[in-house]
Amino acid sequence: MVKPKNDHCSRILFNFKSKPKSIAMKPIDRRTFNQMMAKGSAGAAILSAAPFACAMGSTQEKQKLGIALVGLGSYSTYQLAPALQDTQHCYLAGIVTGTPEKEKAWATKYGIPKGNIYNYDNFDNIADNDAIDVVYVVLPNSMHAEFAIRAAKAGKHVICEKPMGISVAECDAIIDACKKAGAKLGMGYRLHSEPYTQQVKQFVKDKTFGDIQYVGAEAAYRSTGNPDQWRLNKKLSGGGALMNMGVYAIQSAIYGTGENPISVSAQEFSTRPDYFKDTDETIMAQFEFPSGAVANMSTSHNFNANSMYVSGTSGWFQLQPANNYGPLSGKTSKGEELKFPHESQQKLQMDDFAKHVLYGEPNKAPGEMGKRDMMIVEAIYASIAKGGQTMGLDFEPGFGFGG
Ligand code: NAD
Repeated sequence: MVKPKNDHCSRILFNFKSKPKSIAMKPIDRRTFNQMMAKGSAGAAILSAAPFACAMGSTQEKQKLGIALVGLGSYSTYQLAPALQDTQHCYLAGIVTGTPEKEKAWATKYGIPKGNIYNYDNFDNIADNDAIDVVYVVLPNSMHAEFAIRAAKAGKHVICEKPMGISVAECDAIIDACKKAGAKLGMGYRLHSEPYTQQVKQFVKDKTFGDIQYVGAEAAYRSTGNPDQWRLNKKLSGGGALMNMGVYAIQSAIYGTGENPISVSAQEFSTRPDYFKDTDETIMAQFEFPSGAVANMSTSHNFNANSMYVSGTSGWFQLQPANNYGPLSGKTSKGEELKFPHESQQKLQMDDFAKHVLYGEPNKAPGEMGKRDMMIVEAIYASIAKGGQTMGLDFEPGFGFGG
């Protein structure tokens, strides 16, 4: 594992397993390097000491971190792996899959050496692989905790997809395991790295539209696919729309006000019980914040909605869409259209995490953020179970906020 260093001028990084050693830097294209590794012909390249080569041996000088994706489903396949072809501070070094056919396909497509391919059983051997610095858990929700904890125990930094787990207890276990191992922990909350969301946070911080009084947040899509998919199976998903899209609406309410909520009350609606046998279909919830601001959120697997609206004492702003892969879009009461160049959110997110590990830059989406959201998810389910009763929430100010 590469340990963080705060000195931005230095790129010498230290692996806790062995002593640091300085080597000469000669750039090499990542794909070429991976292909050489796959052919077993990279010895010379290692000696010529490309940043990537550093990752393979016992030397610790790195400019790019090696990431291993665990779970090669649609998010890894269509978002994360392509984004990792463009990242500047990390690259796709390895994979962990339970499907043997995927091993060859991914190795060929991305030039991943055989030694960097694992399955769920031999995954713990990743501890011996210096090419892998970060394990990114992209499995069904109920498997996040197991693999995040195993990754930390193997001496790797961890990125965990949302939701962090399926209970607050699981989030605590992940955070503890990372702390014990000295591992950095980040959530796959890609929006914190993209410019529209950063602009929202800046508006709130600068009070550009006065004191925030109201946030409306929606994150939903209509599910019509295979009724046996894991997202509709509570054992694997931990819950339905709330666990899946709901966390985006919770997040919008929080960065839209700049505060953690002090209470929530919630309602559940069901119109297709034959399809949603095991998981929640639609949930709405209302939050109160310490400043007196209130927020209303909706999440659903039955309808499409994707927006946030923020009203302050001197105006409003909105994003629509607010939480898809972008480009997002926004406008304000001043008649402005928000326009930022589009880049892969996943690329920005993974580079931000790598810079956190490499150079001690702020963690934009720390593990505590995932835990905070799970505490809110549990409070929402508790409110629904009690017929919409208002549940108090007691966070330290700023708990779970990223840098
Ligand atoms: P997916 O169904 O496409 O892929 C799941 C992967 O897990 C597959 O490779 C599957 O083989 C593997 N798997 C292992 N054990 C399994 C089991 N028992 N049942 C089902 N699959 C099993 O899912 P996905 O869309 O890639 O989502 C994976 C994770 O990523 C989820 O936690 C999800 O919330 C998260 N996600 C995040 C975003 C985001 O924008 N941050 C977007 C999509 C998904």
